[in-house]
Amino acid sequence: MAAFPPWQILLLCLSLALLALAAGADYYKVLGVARSASEQDIKKAYKKLSRKYHPDKNKDPEAEEKFVEVATAYEVLSDPQQRQIYDKYGEDGLKQHAQGAHHANPFDMFSQFFGGGMREEQVRRGPTMVTEFEISLSDAYTGNSIDFMIKKKILCDHCRGSGAASDGDVRTCGGCGGSGVKLVRHQIMPGMFAQSQMTCDECSGRGKIIARPCPHCGGNKVLDHTASYTLEVEPGIPEGHEVVFEGEADESPDWEAGDVVLRVRTKKQVGGWRRKEGSLYWRETIGVQEALLGFERNLTHLDGHVVALKRDGVTQPGFVQQIKGEGMPLFQRHKEHGDLFIEYSVVLPASLSDHTKRALQDVFREGGAGKAKTEL
Ligand SMILES: [Zn+2]
Ligand SMILES: [Zn+2]
Repeated sequence: MAAFPPWQILLLCLSLALLALAAGADYYKVLGVARSASEQDIKKAYKKLSRKYHPDKNKDPEAEEKFVEVATAYEVLSDPQQRQIYDKYGEDGLKQHAQGAHHANPFDMFSQFFGGGMREEQVRRGPTMVTEFEISLSDAYTGNSIDFMIKKKILCDHCRGSGAASDGDVRTCGGCGGSGVKLVRHQIMPGMFAQSQMTCDECSGRGKIIARPCPHCGGNKVLDHTASYTLEVEPGIPEGHEVVFEGEADESPDWEAGDVVLRVRTKKQVGGWRRKEGSLYWRETIGVQEALLGFERNLTHLDGHVVALKRDGVTQPGFVQQIKGEGMPLFQRHKEHGDLFIEYSVVLPASLSDHTKRALQDVFREGGAGKAKTEL
């Protein structure tokens, strides 16, 4: 996800200041997330912003204030019960509800969250989706913005991935009392028992059961979704280049979404242009007369501009002409291009008229048998 440009932060600060005057801070705006944000989105936002504003790193005089704001917003929104109250009754509702409750120290919260790097490593990432993506050679030459769609799972926006109709419908499992395991007593001998643990069969070890499943996702927690994205093809994009869309793979309450990776390839074209890194290849077919006497031709390039092909004198079949700077743009090297290689094929006429035959015979006779072989 892209960082906010400075003007956006300024706007955010302004609107926050206004909101603070009017109705208390908007915690969703503080974290820069939507009201439908999942627990993970909130966690992600906190992770990003708390690092950014930590006074140890950020020397801006207002950073500490922001750091505390972010912590307060996270404290409320990361707690399902507090979030529910806040959603319904706003900050005032929370104040009434939490009479006497103390706020966590934002610095303790920070170190708890990052816990010396341990916690961060434990965050499970969902699988990365790698897709081969074919573009035309002309798009690779000129660059283009290509829209595409991806089918993926997203967290249900109704239950925010809990799978329950409401927060109250997530109940502690009665079978195991929330521990996820049951103790089973086996009689090994008359009067002698052994205890063993087994995964609770009522909640499959989750410790929680859902009394009423979410009607929107049927308790699946996720929904099928078709998301659209835009691939920015830079001129000269290398074959197999990978473009990463961070955190855009399948969502799940069990992980932080992995990345979508597009591996960009050029479509195989029949005949015509070929590319090898910065070089372009084109096969041009010329007639006997052109091969012998020289010629001028126009070649239309991949973006439509015209390259003049000019040869004086004899061109041998298979001859390769190198044209500087008419190859592929060099990737991320401003306006530099590789070379274009033109390979010439010569077509002979399928048959000769009697007149042409006689004329040619005269030509060859004039040159003399031995001489003709070397000159032609
Ligand atoms: Zn749902
Ligand atoms: Zn259970």
